[in-house]
Amino acid sequence: MSTEKKGGKAVARIYRKRIELFRLIDKIKLWPSRKGVLHGIRTIEKMGDQAWITTHCNKTFKIYNSRRSRAARWLRNKWFSGVCGKCAVPDWKLEKYSATRFRRHYGSFLLKENSKNG
Ligand SMILES: [Zn+2]
Repeated sequence: MSTEKKGGKAVARIYRKRIELFRLIDKIKLWPSRKGVLHGIRTIEKMGDQAWITTHCNKTFKIYNSRRSRAARWLRNKWFSGVCGKCAVPDWKLEKYSATRFRRHYGSFLLKENSKNG
């Protein structure tokens, strides 16, 4: 029985800065439209490097798994001009979104922090 890796629950959700777009939206389930309106994602249908997103307001977006796309940048910087009324994104989700931080080399950074404690 070795469950040493369990139980390390981080307080803030921090993702690597170069996280793939698909993994990012898998986690936060939000999608910024071209106008900067945040929609809640209902389903993601992945097909290789492309995916179809269906939002709660029944809009579909074709997206590419790119770290450099407009949406990836918007999501990382947490820019949005509004929230879709039909998707009714709950406040806790928006708070989670704005509490998400991105750091380079997150893993190694965390290890150093831990060794200082105690
Ligand atoms: Zn919507």
